Amino acid sequence: MAIEKTFSIIKPNSTLDNNIGNIKSIFEKNDLRIAAAKFTKLSREKAEGFYIEHKERPFFGELVDFMTSGPVMLMCLEGENAVMKNREIMGATNPAEAAEGTIRKLYAKSIGENAVHGSDSEASAQRELAYFFEKNELVDRF
Ligand code: GDP
Repeated sequence: MAIEKTFSIIKPNSTLDNNIGNIKSIFEKNDLRIAAAKFTKLSREKAEGFYIEHKERPFFGELVDFMTSGPVMLMCLEGENAVMKNREIMGATNPAEAAEGTIRKLYAKSIGENAVHGSDSEASAQRELAYFFEKNELVDRF
């Protein structure tokens, strides 16, 4: 299977609850390797731009408030089938519907404060990685 890159955010509820290490260890156990990482706090402008496709949704303001409410860990994850594997281990958007053992089942507080972001396709992954990382910030290990 092909080695892919995907984009992940450990969201503010997880960083504030001190779950960065717990979530990273789930990535590592599933053979997803970190190819780039930044610990930062998003500006409103950056968060609004990232979620621009949701601009008309009723929860957009709440989503931007949440994503700028604390630090985030931005990551490029790399591995076999990384995009879909990451979506599987994240679990459903709504933690009430997330499978046992998934990151959202373990660490999400609600459908909004749901612990992690992960790209939903290879095209999204490329767009999202380029939104947060320069090409030379992605470390090539293979
Ligand atoms: P994802 O790909 O699983 O993250 O889900 P979506 O692309 O549908 O939504 C993007 C993000 O918007 C989710 O991860 C949630 O943080 C947030 N979100 C989605 N639905 C709701 C909602 O009904 N209420 C709130 N407050 N946030 C939501």
